Amino acid sequence: MRDPQITRTITELRQALAERSGALIGLVPTMGALHAGHAALLARACSECKIVVASIFVNPLQFGPSEDYAGYPRDPQADIAYAGEAGADIIFLPTPETLTGRGLQTSVVVAEVGEPLCGLQRPGHFTGVATIIVKLFNIVRPDKAYFGEKDWQQLQVVRRLTADLDFAVEIVGVGVVREADGLALSSRNRYLSVSEYQTALRLPQALKAAANLIESGETDARVVALAFRHAIATGPDLKLEYFSICLPDTLEPVEAIQGKTLLAAAVRVGKTRLIDNVLVST
Ligand code: AMP
Repeated sequence: MRDPQITRTITELRQALAERSGALIGLVPTMGALHAGHAALLARACSECKIVVASIFVNPLQFGPSEDYAGYPRDPQADIAYAGEAGADIIFLPTPETLTGRGLQTSVVVAEVGEPLCGLQRPGHFTGVATIIVKLFNIVRPDKAYFGEKDWQQLQVVRRLTADLDFAVEIVGVGVVREADGLALSSRNRYLSVSEYQTALRLPQALKAAANLIESGETDARVVALAFRHAIATGPDLKLEYFSICLPDTLEPVEAIQGKTLLAAAVRVGKTRLIDNVLVST
């Protein structure tokens, strides 16, 4: 492994890419606080591309006013070492001023697929994501870009904007990386206390219970939703924001489960918001 090249401005990044012109470029956008979920994206990118760019940017546009932008974990030195170890050739570490300047007058709104689920809970969130992703696509001009299925709706939003705006980039989805006990890895897991962590395990467990029910033949979404609610056992320790049984591409809710179906949920454990999903096929 060579040390990754660190770039902080758009000019530096473009210069670094110009020196490698002709090489297949993979982009892995992240918000840092890197973990094995990000490493899986980088590993996949390394296996498919000559040059892998990891961006590390806590995107202010995707946080609501009462969300955790200020407190979001930031550790650039650890992230640089981790991303280098995981195979990144170039790290793009812009400041907020570099990407959002004195404020943007342009934004990218992805309508239907950005509206339900997290779109309802976090107004403006996917517009913030989509706007920065489009900027990163224009800055890096990657051949391939890698996104985790952990953020399933985000992946669909990115697929849609790529198709709608004719970006010449292949979007690659990478499966959810979990702890051995089932909890999906997330930078926000580090907010959880020991007892909150135990509570958070009910999220993957309830999704699994619902998936098992479908796999054993249940087709009525109401029955599956009841089983999920029973298993997640909401209370003062865990609040449910949403549970959706929907089509994987459009996120439209389904009543009669048939074929590929997404089960997606968001919860709050204490102050920490967690999302997870499973895909089932019948
Ligand atoms: P984030 O830094 O949380 O914005 O995530 C950056 C990228 O890593 C996104 O495409 C996420 O979907 C992906 N990612 C985060 N956690 C996981 C995970 N547990 N498994 C797979 N991909 C993940």
